[in-house]
Amino acid sequence: MADQMWLEELRSGVRRICNSFPDSYWRELDAKREYPQAFVEALTKAGYLAALIPEEYGGSGLGVTEASVILEEIHRCGGNAAACHAQMYTMGVILRHGSEEQKRRYLPEIAKGNIRLQAFGVTEPTTGSDTTQLKTTAVRRGDRYVVNGQKVFISRAQYSDLMVLLVRTTPLAEVRKRTEGLSVLIVDLREAVGKGLTIRPIRTMINHATTELFFENLEVPVENRIGEEGQGFRYILDGMNAERILIAAECIGDGRWFVERATRYAKERVVFGRPIGQNQGVQFPIARAHVHVEAADLMRFRAAALYDAGKPCAAEANMAKLLAADASWEAANAALQTHGGFGFAEEFDIERKFRETRLYQVAPISTNLILSYVAEHVLGMPRSY
Ligand SMILES: Cc1cc2nc3c(=O)[nH]c(=O)nc-3n(C[C@H](O)[C@H](O)[C@H](O)COP(=O)(O)OP(=O)(O)OC[C@H]3O[C@@H](n4cnc5c(N)ncnc54)[C@H](O)[C@@H]3O)c2cc1C
Repeated sequence: MADQMWLEELRSGVRRICNSFPDSYWRELDAKREYPQAFVEALTKAGYLAALIPEEYGGSGLGVTEASVILEEIHRCGGNAAACHAQMYTMGVILRHGSEEQKRRYLPEIAKGNIRLQAFGVTEPTTGSDTTQLKTTAVRRGDRYVVNGQKVFISRAQYSDLMVLLVRTTPLAEVRKRTEGLSVLIVDLREAVGKGLTIRPIRTMINHATTELFFENLEVPVENRIGEEGQGFRYILDGMNAERILIAAECIGDGRWFVERATRYAKERVVFGRPIGQNQGVQFPIARAHVHVEAADLMRFRAAALYDAGKPCAAEANMAKLLAADASWEAANAALQTHGGFGFAEEFDIERKFRETRLYQVAPISTNLILSYVAEHVLGMPRSY
């Protein structure tokens, strides 16, 4: 378990950066749906996005526990780490399954901030959560793969240099198990756009820089394949526990931000001659949300400790993500209700964070799929899909 004092120092360092990016910064970008370029640069320069990259490749060699604290703090300060969090877990695919040559080529440059690996291309419009059915294909021609297909909701593709892409290299009809025949490719977006890759932004209810991708005979060098051909699904699954723990931490940061804002407002706002927070009808939803955020936090640290110790943690990572996403959503509702009409006014930032935290019920994995994981793999009930 990481030392508490050290985690507190880490929090203070992140907070110092976040203090230069106040609510108004996020609010203005949200209105224009613009990417938080200056924030991502500041975070990269300070080395926080290289937290999980081992020291031998120029990173800080920290664990998921520390990485989760970094992301939590960004959300707790009112910001949003979605613009850059993917780098923390996508690089894990290269770290765990890439060749030594690939690690030396990419990781030090990512750690220095010279290249960004922020895009992760899995979801497709026709197959959604049913990942193994994905339709994007990569057919080998000599020393290249030729990629055709479509992806949807691929975030940050316009602000990333590289993308980790999951494709089918062996048709479904020719594999023994549906999880086989998928491969992971590193796509250099700087070269690909206009030469077989078209990126189209999707405007969503939040400022998330998400996009649709269209592949038409995009050529990717075979040397950009990570690991063995056909084993890509396993490599992607491998990174998902870290992703879930990190997203849980972002939810906890959101949850704490909502509870703090709601508490402050409940103490200040006077109606009927007394602070609204003097009424138990106002107090209790905030107190309940706080209890749930703190409980989710315990599961986050438990999952992170198991992960960092190299022990199995899929159940804990999934449970942490579910508990934290539910707690942040509950806190968001309590904060909105506490603020009355002002909760809907953009200048209070509640409505922005409310929209933002709602995402975690759906992405990167929807609540139902976590519940079915727990039902099947933890409780041993029959497989439902
Ligand atoms: C803002 C945003 C950013 C994203 N960024 C990325 C990204 O960078 N990279 C990427 O690859 N993807 C990304 N995604 C995609 C995200 O991971 C998917 O939206 C999510 O996994 C759900 O897939 P879907 O949208 O196709 O929903 P579907 O799979 O169509 O599911 C729709 C609903 O049905 C439910 N459902 C489906 N099957 C079952 C079942 N068997 N039992 C019970 N319920 C079921 C789901 O829980 C869900 O509520 C992003 C999405 C959003 C909205």
